[in-house]
Amino acid sequence: MSAPEKYPGSRRPLLVKKFGGTSVADIERIRKVARLALESQREGNDVVVVVSAMSGETNRLLGLAHQVLPLPDARELDVIAATGEQVSTALTALAIQAQGGQACSFLGHQLPLRTDSAFTRARILQVEQERIREVLACGQIAVVAGFQGVDSNDNITTLGRGGSDITAVALAAALGADVCEIYTDVEGIYTADPRVCPSGRKLKSISYEEMLELASLGAKVLQVRSVEIAMKYEVPVHVRGTFTEEEGTWLVSRETAFEARVLAGLACEHNQARVELSGLEHHPERMAELMELLAELNTSVDLLRHRQEGTQVSISFTLPEGELLRAKPSLERLVDDLGASAIQVSTGLTKVSLVGIGVRSDPWIAARVCRSLARHRIPVSDLAVNELRISGLVEGSRADEALRILHEAFELARAEASVTRPTNAEGAW
Ligand code: ADP
Ligand code: ASP
Ligand code: MG
Repeated sequence: MSAPEKYPGSRRPLLVKKFGGTSVADIERIRKVARLALESQREGNDVVVVVSAMSGETNRLLGLAHQVLPLPDARELDVIAATGEQVSTALTALAIQAQGGQACSFLGHQLPLRTDSAFTRARILQVEQERIREVLACGQIAVVAGFQGVDSNDNITTLGRGGSDITAVALAAALGADVCEIYTDVEGIYTADPRVCPSGRKLKSISYEEMLELASLGAKVLQVRSVEIAMKYEVPVHVRGTFTEEEGTWLVSRETAFEARVLAGLACEHNQARVELSGLEHHPERMAELMELLAELNTSVDLLRHRQEGTQVSISFTLPEGELLRAKPSLERLVDDLGASAIQVSTGLTKVSLVGIGVRSDPWIAARVCRSLARHRIPVSDLAVNELRISGLVEGSRADEALRILHEAFELARAEASVTRPTNAEGAW
Protein backbone atom coordinates (compact mmCIF):
# COMPACT_ATOMS: atom_id res chain seq x y z
CA MET A 1 0.00 0.00 0.00
CA SER A 2 1.36 3.44 -0.88
CA ALA A 3 1.62 6.18 1.77
CA PRO A 4 -1.67 7.91 2.58
CA GLU A 5 -2.27 11.55 1.76
CA LYS A 6 -4.45 13.67 3.99
CA TYR A 7 -7.44 14.71 1.92
CA PRO A 8 -7.87 18.46 1.88
CA GLY A 9 -11.24 20.05 2.53
CA SER A 10 -13.28 18.30 5.20
CA ARG A 11 -12.70 19.60 8.73
CA ARG A 12 -15.13 17.27 10.46
CA PRO A 13 -13.55 14.44 12.41
CA LEU A 14 -13.64 11.23 10.41
CA LEU A 15 -14.39 7.87 11.97
CA VAL A 16 -14.05 4.46 10.35
CA LYS A 17 -16.28 1.98 12.16
CA LYS A 18 -15.86 -1.70 11.38
CA PHE A 19 -18.42 -4.30 12.43
CA GLY A 20 -17.56 -8.01 12.44
CA GLY A 21 -19.79 -10.95 11.53
CA THR A 22 -21.56 -11.35 14.88
CA SER A 23 -22.33 -7.61 14.93
CA VAL A 24 -24.28 -7.98 11.66
CA ALA A 25 -25.55 -11.51 12.31
CA ASP A 26 -29.25 -10.64 11.84
CA ILE A 27 -31.49 -7.73 10.88
CA GLU A 28 -31.91 -6.57 14.49
CA ARG A 29 -28.13 -6.29 14.90
CA ILE A 30 -27.79 -4.54 11.56
CA ARG A 31 -30.32 -1.99 12.85
CA LYS A 32 -28.10 -1.51 15.91
CA VAL A 33 -25.08 -0.93 13.65
CA ALA A 34 -27.10 1.66 11.71
CA ARG A 35 -28.04 3.40 14.99
CA LEU A 36 -24.40 3.55 16.11
CA ALA A 37 -23.31 4.99 12.75
CA LEU A 38 -26.07 7.62 12.77
CA GLU A 39 -25.33 8.61 16.38
CA SER A 40 -21.70 9.24 15.46
CA GLN A 41 -22.73 11.26 12.46
CA ARG A 42 -25.18 13.37 14.52
CA GLU A 43 -22.34 14.07 16.96
CA GLY A 44 -20.59 15.87 14.10
CA ASN A 45 -18.39 13.18 12.57
CA ASP A 46 -18.03 11.98 9.03
CA VAL A 47 -18.63 8.23 9.18
CA VAL A 48 -17.38 5.35 7.07
CA VAL A 49 -18.75 1.94 8.05
CA VAL A 50 -16.98 -1.29 7.06
CA VAL A 51 -18.87 -4.55 7.47
CA SER A 52 -18.04 -8.24 7.40
CA ALA A 53 -20.36 -10.91 6.08
CA MET A 54 -23.15 -12.01 8.41
CA SER A 55 -21.84 -14.47 11.00
CA GLY A 56 -21.14 -17.95 9.55
CA GLU A 57 -21.79 -16.81 5.99
CA THR A 58 -18.20 -16.94 4.70
CA ASN A 59 -17.79 -20.49 6.06
CA ARG A 60 -21.06 -21.48 4.42
CA LEU A 61 -19.99 -20.05 1.07
CA LEU A 62 -16.54 -21.67 1.17
CA GLY A 63 -18.21 -24.95 2.21
CA LEU A 64 -20.35 -24.86 -0.93
CA ALA A 65 -17.26 -24.45 -3.08
CA HIS A 66 -15.51 -27.35 -1.34
CA GLN A 67 -18.54 -29.56 -1.97
CA VAL A 68 -17.95 -29.07 -5.68
CA LEU A 69 -14.17 -29.56 -5.61
CA PRO A 70 -11.90 -30.51 -2.67
CA LEU A 71 -9.20 -28.05 -3.79
CA PRO A 72 -11.18 -25.31 -5.54
CA ASP A 73 -9.60 -22.76 -7.82
CA ALA A 74 -8.65 -19.73 -5.70
CA ARG A 75 -9.99 -17.17 -8.20
CA GLU A 76 -13.47 -18.71 -8.11
CA LEU A 77 -13.32 -19.05 -4.31
CA ASP A 78 -12.89 -15.30 -4.09
CA VAL A 79 -15.83 -14.64 -6.40
CA ILE A 80 -17.99 -16.76 -4.11
CA ALA A 81 -16.62 -15.54 -0.74
CA ALA A 82 -16.96 -11.87 -1.65
CA THR A 83 -20.73 -12.21 -2.00
CA GLY A 84 -21.09 -12.49 1.79
CA GLU A 85 -20.01 -8.89 2.31
CA GLN A 86 -22.07 -7.72 -0.66
CA VAL A 87 -25.26 -8.69 1.18
CA SER A 88 -24.37 -7.24 4.61
CA THR A 89 -23.11 -3.98 3.09
CA ALA A 90 -26.33 -3.28 1.22
CA LEU A 91 -28.46 -4.33 4.21
CA THR A 92 -26.53 -1.92 6.44
CA ALA A 93 -26.99 0.94 3.96
CA LEU A 94 -30.72 0.16 3.83
CA ALA A 95 -30.95 0.05 7.65
CA ILE A 96 -29.37 3.52 7.84
CA GLN A 97 -31.87 4.80 5.28
CA ALA A 98 -34.72 3.15 7.21
CA GLN A 99 -33.71 5.22 10.26
CA GLY A 100 -33.85 8.47 8.31
CA GLY A 101 -30.18 8.69 7.35
CA GLN A 102 -28.50 8.67 3.98
CA ALA A 103 -26.06 5.96 3.05
CA CYS A 104 -24.39 4.53 -0.01
CA SER A 105 -22.74 1.10 -0.20
CA PHE A 106 -19.50 0.29 -2.01
CA LEU A 107 -18.00 -3.03 -2.99
CA GLY A 108 -14.25 -3.36 -3.33
CA HIS A 109 -14.25 -2.96 -7.11
CA GLN A 110 -16.47 0.11 -6.95
CA LEU A 111 -13.99 2.24 -4.99
CA PRO A 112 -11.75 0.60 -6.24
CA LEU A 113 -9.67 -1.01 -3.55
CA ARG A 114 -6.76 -2.35 -5.62
CA THR A 115 -4.92 -5.48 -4.59
CA ASP A 116 -2.39 -7.83 -6.07
CA SER A 117 -3.65 -11.06 -7.63
CA ALA A 118 -2.87 -13.45 -4.78
CA PHE A 119 -6.41 -14.85 -4.61
CA THR A 120 -7.69 -15.71 -1.10
CA ARG A 121 -4.81 -13.76 0.49
CA ALA A 122 -4.47 -10.63 -1.65
CA ARG A 123 -2.53 -7.61 -0.41
CA ILE A 124 -3.85 -4.08 -0.76
CA LEU A 125 -1.90 -1.89 -3.16
CA GLN A 126 -4.03 1.24 -3.25
CA VAL A 127 -7.29 2.58 -1.87
CA GLU A 128 -9.13 5.14 -4.00
CA GLN A 129 -10.91 7.55 -1.69
CA GLU A 130 -12.65 9.79 -4.24
CA ARG A 131 -16.08 8.15 -4.17
CA ILE A 132 -16.11 7.92 -0.39
CA ARG A 133 -15.20 11.61 -0.13
CA GLU A 134 -18.01 12.49 -2.51
CA VAL A 135 -20.70 10.75 -0.48
CA LEU A 136 -19.34 12.11 2.82
CA ALA A 137 -19.42 15.62 1.36
CA CYS A 138 -23.15 15.13 0.65
CA GLY A 139 -23.81 14.20 4.29
CA GLN A 140 -24.10 10.49 3.59
CA ILE A 141 -22.57 7.56 5.42
CA ALA A 142 -20.30 5.42 3.24
CA VAL A 143 -20.77 1.69 3.85
CA VAL A 144 -17.85 -0.31 2.48
CA ALA A 145 -17.67 -4.08 2.02
CA GLY A 146 -14.82 -5.51 4.06
CA PHE A 147 -12.50 -8.33 2.98
CA GLN A 148 -12.64 -7.72 -0.78
CA GLY A 149 -10.78 -5.89 -3.51
CA VAL A 150 -10.04 -6.03 -7.19
CA ASP A 151 -6.78 -6.73 -9.04
CA SER A 152 -5.35 -4.91 -12.04
CA ASN A 153 -7.26 -7.28 -14.37
CA ASP A 154 -10.56 -6.53 -12.61
CA ASN A 155 -10.64 -9.94 -10.94
CA ILE A 156 -12.37 -9.97 -7.55
CA THR A 157 -9.94 -10.76 -4.75
CA THR A 158 -10.24 -11.35 -1.01
CA LEU A 159 -7.76 -10.41 1.67
CA GLY A 160 -7.69 -13.61 3.75
CA ARG A 161 -9.87 -14.70 6.69
CA GLY A 162 -10.70 -11.90 9.06
CA GLY A 163 -9.82 -9.49 6.25
CA SER A 164 -12.47 -6.86 7.02
CA ASP A 165 -10.15 -5.59 9.77
CA ILE A 166 -7.57 -4.97 7.03
CA THR A 167 -10.09 -3.07 4.90
CA ALA A 168 -11.04 -0.88 7.85
CA VAL A 169 -7.51 -0.01 8.92
CA ALA A 170 -6.34 0.53 5.34
CA LEU A 171 -9.28 2.87 4.70
CA ALA A 172 -8.59 4.71 7.96
CA ALA A 173 -4.95 5.12 6.91
CA ALA A 174 -5.83 6.27 3.39
CA LEU A 175 -8.48 8.71 4.59
CA GLY A 176 -6.37 9.99 7.47
CA ALA A 177 -9.23 9.05 9.83
CA ASP A 178 -9.15 10.29 13.40
CA VAL A 179 -10.02 6.85 14.75
CA CYS A 180 -10.56 3.36 13.40
CA GLU A 181 -13.08 1.67 15.66
CA ILE A 182 -13.19 -2.12 15.45
CA TYR A 183 -16.50 -3.25 16.93
CA THR A 184 -16.63 -6.91 17.86
CA ASP A 185 -18.31 -9.48 20.11
CA VAL A 186 -15.94 -8.97 23.08
CA GLU A 187 -15.28 -5.66 24.85
CA GLY A 188 -11.69 -5.20 23.80
CA ILE A 189 -8.34 -6.96 23.74
CA TYR A 190 -7.77 -9.24 26.72
CA THR A 191 -4.73 -10.90 28.25
CA ALA A 192 -6.13 -14.15 26.79
CA ASP A 193 -9.22 -15.07 24.78
CA PRO A 194 -11.98 -14.35 27.33
CA ARG A 195 -14.07 -17.17 25.89
CA VAL A 196 -11.41 -19.70 26.91
CA CYS A 197 -9.96 -17.96 29.95
CA PRO A 198 -12.66 -16.29 32.06
CA SER A 199 -10.03 -14.53 34.20
CA GLY A 200 -8.67 -12.76 31.09
CA ARG A 201 -8.19 -9.04 31.82
CA LYS A 202 -9.23 -6.34 29.39
CA LEU A 203 -6.27 -4.13 28.54
CA LYS A 204 -6.63 -0.35 28.37
CA SER A 205 -3.99 -0.26 25.70
CA ILE A 206 -1.52 -2.50 23.96
CA SER A 207 1.47 -1.61 21.79
CA TYR A 208 1.25 -2.24 18.05
CA GLU A 209 4.23 -4.60 18.35
CA GLU A 210 2.68 -6.75 21.06
CA MET A 211 -0.65 -6.91 19.25
CA LEU A 212 1.14 -7.85 16.05
CA GLU A 213 2.77 -10.75 17.86
CA LEU A 214 -0.47 -11.85 19.57
CA ALA A 215 -2.40 -11.67 16.29
CA SER A 216 0.22 -13.60 14.35
CA LEU A 217 0.15 -16.28 17.05
CA GLY A 218 -3.59 -16.82 16.86
CA ALA A 219 -5.43 -14.04 18.75
CA LYS A 220 -8.00 -13.46 16.04
CA VAL A 221 -9.52 -10.38 17.69
CA LEU A 222 -7.53 -8.44 15.05
CA GLN A 223 -6.30 -9.76 11.73
CA VAL A 224 -2.51 -9.66 11.71
CA ARG A 225 -2.07 -7.55 8.57
CA SER A 226 -4.50 -4.95 9.88
CA VAL A 227 -2.13 -4.49 12.82
CA GLU A 228 0.85 -4.21 10.46
CA ILE A 229 -0.90 -1.41 8.55
CA ALA A 230 -2.02 0.32 11.76
CA MET A 231 1.56 0.25 13.03
CA LYS A 232 3.07 1.45 9.77
CA TYR A 233 0.70 4.42 9.39
CA GLU A 234 0.15 4.98 13.14
CA VAL A 235 -3.60 4.60 12.81
CA PRO A 236 -5.34 5.10 16.17
CA VAL A 237 -7.28 1.83 16.53
CA HIS A 238 -9.90 1.32 19.24
CA VAL A 239 -11.16 -2.27 19.64
CA ARG A 240 -14.50 -2.27 21.46
CA GLY A 241 -17.73 -4.20 22.01
CA THR A 242 -20.73 -3.60 19.76
CA PHE A 243 -23.16 -4.34 22.56
CA THR A 244 -21.72 -2.10 25.29
CA GLU A 245 -20.88 1.57 25.83
CA GLU A 246 -17.67 0.65 27.67
CA GLU A 247 -14.30 1.93 26.50
CA GLY A 248 -12.36 -0.89 24.83
CA THR A 249 -8.62 -1.24 24.13
CA TRP A 250 -6.42 1.23 22.23
CA LEU A 251 -3.51 0.28 20.03
CA VAL A 252 -0.67 2.66 20.86
CA SER A 253 3.02 3.03 20.22
CA ARG A 254 5.28 1.40 22.81
CA GLU A 255 6.24 4.70 24.38
CA THR A 256 2.67 5.72 25.11
CA ALA A 257 1.43 2.38 26.49
CA PHE A 258 -0.46 3.33 29.66
CA GLU A 259 0.46 0.29 31.68
CA ALA A 260 3.97 -0.62 32.65
CA ARG A 261 4.12 -4.35 32.19
CA VAL A 262 6.40 -6.91 30.69
CA LEU A 263 3.80 -9.46 29.59
CA ALA A 264 0.90 -8.57 27.31
CA GLY A 265 -0.94 -11.87 27.05
CA LEU A 266 -1.35 -15.36 25.72
CA ALA A 267 -2.47 -16.65 22.34
CA CYS A 268 -3.26 -20.07 20.89
CA GLU A 269 -3.09 -21.32 17.35
CA HIS A 270 -5.03 -24.54 16.99
CA ASN A 271 -4.88 -27.29 14.35
CA GLN A 272 -1.16 -27.16 13.83
CA ALA A 273 0.76 -29.94 12.11
CA ARG A 274 4.37 -30.73 12.96
CA VAL A 275 6.52 -32.11 10.18
CA GLU A 276 9.86 -33.73 10.89
CA LEU A 277 12.33 -34.78 8.22
CA SER A 278 15.18 -36.88 9.50
CA GLY A 279 18.28 -38.50 8.08
CA LEU A 280 19.05 -35.63 5.71
CA GLU A 281 22.49 -35.32 4.27
CA HIS A 282 24.30 -32.33 5.80
CA HIS A 283 24.85 -30.09 2.79
CA PRO A 284 24.43 -26.28 2.47
CA GLU A 285 22.92 -26.58 -1.05
CA ARG A 286 20.34 -29.02 0.19
CA MET A 287 19.49 -26.80 3.12
CA ALA A 288 18.96 -23.87 0.78
CA GLU A 289 16.66 -26.02 -1.39
CA LEU A 290 14.65 -26.98 1.67
CA MET A 291 14.21 -23.36 2.74
CA GLU A 292 13.21 -22.41 -0.81
CA LEU A 293 10.57 -25.13 -0.86
CA LEU A 294 9.18 -23.96 2.47
CA ALA A 295 9.08 -20.40 1.13
CA GLU A 296 7.23 -21.60 -1.98
CA LEU A 297 4.52 -23.01 0.24
CA ASN A 298 3.82 -19.41 1.27
CA THR A 299 2.24 -20.54 4.51
CA SER A 300 2.96 -19.73 8.14
CA VAL A 301 5.77 -22.15 8.80
CA ASP A 302 6.95 -21.73 12.39
CA LEU A 303 9.01 -23.33 15.17
CA LEU A 304 11.59 -24.31 12.59
CA ARG A 305 14.32 -26.45 14.13
CA HIS A 306 17.52 -27.75 12.73
CA ARG A 307 19.45 -30.50 14.50
CA GLN A 308 22.72 -32.01 13.43
CA GLU A 309 23.59 -35.54 14.48
CA GLY A 310 27.01 -36.47 13.09
CA THR A 311 26.82 -36.19 9.30
CA GLN A 312 23.06 -36.19 9.31
CA VAL A 313 20.57 -33.44 9.88
CA SER A 314 16.96 -33.40 10.95
CA ILE A 315 14.56 -30.55 10.43
CA SER A 316 11.18 -29.95 12.01
CA PHE A 317 8.62 -27.21 11.58
CA THR A 318 4.94 -26.50 12.09
CA LEU A 319 2.31 -25.35 9.64
CA PRO A 320 -1.48 -25.05 9.80
CA GLU A 321 -3.14 -28.46 9.35
CA GLY A 322 -5.39 -27.02 6.66
CA GLU A 323 -2.31 -26.30 4.56
CA LEU A 324 -1.07 -29.90 4.64
CA LEU A 325 -3.11 -30.98 1.64
CA ARG A 326 -1.75 -28.12 -0.45
CA ALA A 327 1.75 -28.67 0.92
CA LYS A 328 1.80 -32.45 0.46
CA PRO A 329 3.21 -32.59 -3.08
CA SER A 330 6.03 -30.21 -2.13
CA LEU A 331 6.73 -32.19 1.03
CA GLU A 332 6.91 -35.44 -0.93
CA ARG A 333 9.25 -33.78 -3.38
CA LEU A 334 11.34 -32.69 -0.40
CA VAL A 335 11.70 -36.24 0.83
CA ASP A 336 12.83 -37.41 -2.61
CA ASP A 337 15.10 -34.46 -3.42
CA LEU A 338 16.77 -34.25 -0.06
CA GLY A 339 17.11 -37.94 0.52
CA ALA A 340 15.42 -37.84 3.92
CA SER A 341 15.28 -41.27 5.54
CA ALA A 342 11.98 -40.53 7.29
CA ILE A 343 9.20 -38.00 7.36
CA GLN A 344 6.92 -37.84 10.35
CA VAL A 345 3.76 -35.75 10.46
CA SER A 346 1.87 -35.17 13.72
CA THR A 347 -1.44 -33.35 13.70
CA GLY A 348 -3.94 -32.07 16.27
CA LEU A 349 -1.42 -29.81 17.98
CA THR A 350 -1.84 -26.30 19.37
CA LYS A 351 0.83 -23.65 19.54
CA VAL A 352 0.55 -21.77 22.83
CA SER A 353 2.43 -18.48 23.08
CA LEU A 354 3.15 -15.96 25.80
CA VAL A 355 3.77 -12.46 24.44
CA GLY A 356 5.41 -9.44 25.97
CA ILE A 357 8.35 -7.11 25.71
CA GLY A 358 10.04 -8.77 28.69
CA VAL A 359 10.04 -12.33 27.39
CA ARG A 360 13.57 -12.40 26.00
CA SER A 361 15.25 -10.68 28.87
CA ASP A 362 13.98 -12.98 31.60
CA PRO A 363 15.15 -16.61 31.38
CA TRP A 364 12.83 -17.54 34.22
CA ILE A 365 9.84 -17.08 31.96
CA ALA A 366 10.69 -20.20 29.94
CA ALA A 367 11.38 -22.06 33.14
CA ARG A 368 8.04 -21.06 34.58
CA VAL A 369 6.17 -22.09 31.42
CA CYS A 370 7.67 -25.59 31.63
CA ARG A 371 7.30 -25.93 35.39
CA SER A 372 3.66 -24.88 35.53
CA LEU A 373 2.65 -27.14 32.64
CA ALA A 374 4.67 -30.04 34.04
CA ARG A 375 2.77 -29.71 37.34
CA HIS A 376 -0.39 -30.48 35.43
CA ARG A 377 1.31 -33.17 33.36
CA ILE A 378 0.90 -31.29 30.12
CA PRO A 379 3.84 -32.12 27.84
CA VAL A 380 5.16 -29.16 25.87
CA SER A 381 7.58 -29.47 22.97
CA ASP A 382 9.43 -27.33 20.44
CA LEU A 383 9.81 -24.35 22.78
CA ALA A 384 11.05 -21.27 20.95
CA VAL A 385 11.86 -17.86 22.38
CA ASN A 386 12.37 -14.60 20.54
CA GLU A 387 12.30 -10.90 21.37
CA LEU A 388 8.59 -10.77 22.08
CA ARG A 389 7.33 -14.28 22.65
CA ILE A 390 7.82 -17.78 23.90
CA SER A 391 5.89 -20.52 22.10
CA GLY A 392 5.52 -24.25 22.49
CA LEU A 393 3.39 -27.10 21.18
CA VAL A 394 0.83 -28.94 23.28
CA GLU A 395 -1.80 -31.57 22.46
CA GLY A 396 -4.84 -29.76 21.06
CA SER A 397 -7.14 -31.43 23.59
CA ARG A 398 -5.21 -29.82 26.48
CA ALA A 399 -4.63 -26.41 24.94
CA ASP A 400 -7.43 -24.52 26.70
CA GLU A 401 -6.31 -25.93 30.03
CA ALA A 402 -2.70 -24.97 29.27
CA LEU A 403 -3.81 -21.42 28.46
CA ARG A 404 -5.63 -21.09 31.79
CA ILE A 405 -2.71 -22.58 33.72
CA LEU A 406 -0.23 -20.15 32.17
CA HIS A 407 -2.58 -17.21 32.68
CA GLU A 408 -2.70 -18.08 36.37
CA ALA A 409 1.01 -18.86 36.66
CA PHE A 410 2.03 -15.49 35.24
CA GLU A 411 -0.69 -13.65 37.17
CA LEU A 412 -1.92 -12.01 34.00
CA ALA A 413 -5.19 -11.06 35.66
CA ARG A 414 -3.20 -8.54 37.72
CA ALA A 415 -2.30 -5.20 36.19
CA GLU A 416 1.41 -5.88 36.63
CA ALA A 417 2.26 -9.48 36.03
CA SER A 418 5.27 -10.73 37.95
CA VAL A 419 8.06 -12.58 36.20
CA THR A 420 10.69 -12.85 38.88
CA ARG A 421 12.42 -15.93 40.16
CA PRO A 422 10.59 -17.80 42.95
CA THR A 423 11.84 -16.99 46.44
CA ASN A 424 10.22 -19.60 48.68
CA ALA A 425 12.26 -22.38 50.21
CA GLU A 426 11.48 -25.05 47.63
CA GLY A 427 11.89 -22.67 44.77
CA ALA A 428 8.38 -23.63 43.68
CA TRP A 429 5.83 -21.44 41.96
P1 ADP B 1 -15.33 -10.32 14.35
O1 ADP B 1 -16.32 -11.22 13.70
O2 ADP B 1 -15.97 -9.18 15.09
O3 ADP B 1 -14.22 -9.88 13.46
P2 ADP B 1 -13.62 -12.34 15.52
O4 ADP B 1 -14.33 -13.61 15.86
O5 ADP B 1 -12.81 -12.30 14.29
O6 ADP B 1 -14.71 -11.17 15.54
O7 ADP B 1 -12.67 -11.87 16.74
C1 ADP B 1 -13.23 -11.74 18.03
C2 ADP B 1 -12.91 -12.98 18.84
O8 ADP B 1 -11.52 -13.02 19.08
C3 ADP B 1 -13.51 -13.01 20.22
O9 ADP B 1 -14.83 -13.51 20.21
C4 ADP B 1 -12.55 -13.87 21.01
O10 ADP B 1 -13.04 -15.19 21.17
C5 ADP B 1 -11.32 -13.94 20.14
N1 ADP B 1 -10.07 -13.59 20.84
C6 ADP B 1 -8.92 -14.31 20.78
N2 ADP B 1 -7.97 -13.78 21.54
C7 ADP B 1 -8.50 -12.66 22.09
C8 ADP B 1 -7.99 -11.66 22.97
N3 ADP B 1 -6.71 -11.70 23.43
N4 ADP B 1 -8.81 -10.65 23.35
C9 ADP B 1 -10.08 -10.60 22.88
N5 ADP B 1 -10.63 -11.52 22.06
C10 ADP B 1 -9.86 -12.55 21.66
N1 ASP C 1 -16.10 -12.53 6.18
C1 ASP C 1 -14.67 -12.71 6.19
C2 ASP C 1 -14.32 -13.90 7.07
O1 ASP C 1 -15.18 -14.52 7.65
C3 ASP C 1 -13.92 -11.47 6.61
C4 ASP C 1 -14.14 -11.03 8.04
O2 ASP C 1 -15.04 -11.50 8.73
O3 ASP C 1 -13.40 -10.15 8.46
O4 ASP C 1 -13.17 -14.25 7.15
MG1 MG D 1 -12.49 -10.85 12.83
